[in-house]
Amino acid sequence: MIRDSQTRAPNRCSATLGARLNRLLHEALYGCSRNRCLAGDLRPLSALLALVGNAIRLHADRRRRQPLVRRSRMEFGGYRLDILVQGYPGKTRRHGGLGWSTVALLRGHGRTAVVDTGGFGMRRTILEALHRLGVQPTDVTDLLLTHLHYDHMINWPLFAGARMVVGRTELDWAMGLPFGDPLVPELYVRDLAAHPKLVTVDEGAEVLPGITAHLVPGHTPGHLMFLVEGRDTEPDGDLLLIQDAAKYRAELLQRAADMTFDPAVSAASIDRIWDFWRRRPGSVLLPGHDQPMVLQAGVPVRMGRPDAAIIAIFGADIADRTEFDLAGPADAG
Ligand SMILES: [Zn+2]
Repeated sequence: MIRDSQTRAPNRCSATLGARLNRLLHEALYGCSRNRCLAGDLRPLSALLALVGNAIRLHADRRRRQPLVRRSRMEFGGYRLDILVQGYPGKTRRHGGLGWSTVALLRGHGRTAVVDTGGFGMRRTILEALHRLGVQPTDVTDLLLTHLHYDHMINWPLFAGARMVVGRTELDWAMGLPFGDPLVPELYVRDLAAHPKLVTVDEGAEVLPGITAHLVPGHTPGHLMFLVEGRDTEPDGDLLLIQDAAKYRAELLQRAADMTFDPAVSAASIDRIWDFWRRRPGSVLLPGHDQPMVLQAGVPVRMGRPDAAIIAIFGADIADRTEFDLAGPADAG
């Protein structure tokens, strides 16, 4: 730029040599005439404008990266929701199921309930998350299980003293499977079935005060969702804990599932979820492999972006780590 201005006639606006549009811009911004360019004299102003432009861009970028929707509190019908582990909408290419599923904690009405347990590799993460909230595993009074895939149920022994709630249809189905099913951990299911505090429930059962179970099959034959009823006097809406009935946003949008024993059954269940979701304004939906979401103008909008990464050690030094950020696109909805 400096060289350019030096090689041109000092009293001619360099912008007028090119496009007329450029000249108009110079006229508007700097007051240049056809024969005299003031932009060179006003370089500090130009720099200031560039600084302001950058600041605006940075602000816009920061806004883009912030959660799309914020709520000051996550309380529904007298229960406080804390997400112990946030599910992630991903698969592996060659290493089997990723199994990064949602684990939620509900506290209220004198109960401390965990909803699903994540996969085995999450044990430490779950215990640390509980510890941060001042909750001991022995404080957990109830474990609500949506279905019996390994990445949702295998850590039930962490809460062995709790009352265990599972769908009757789901348990019957899982117990009837031969050993070796790729997704159902048969020994954990067998011991769960013999647990002294196991409660099997059917459609519509009230599993805790103000929390009901509803059948939403497709992903598995007896998959349950749990509905935490909001109060009409409060603006919080309901909480829908749907887990893998619709694993992530795309399944909700398309009303279709990519892991289902019957696409029509899954579609009917997702229709049912939509009916629940629209029932009360402000309702939050928590899927098994995605961020919590709310409806804005009828469209599911994520509350925040995933905080996920893989750390690889390729070098000769164990401290030499490469982190692959998995947060995904900032404008994913
Ligand atoms: Zn599942």
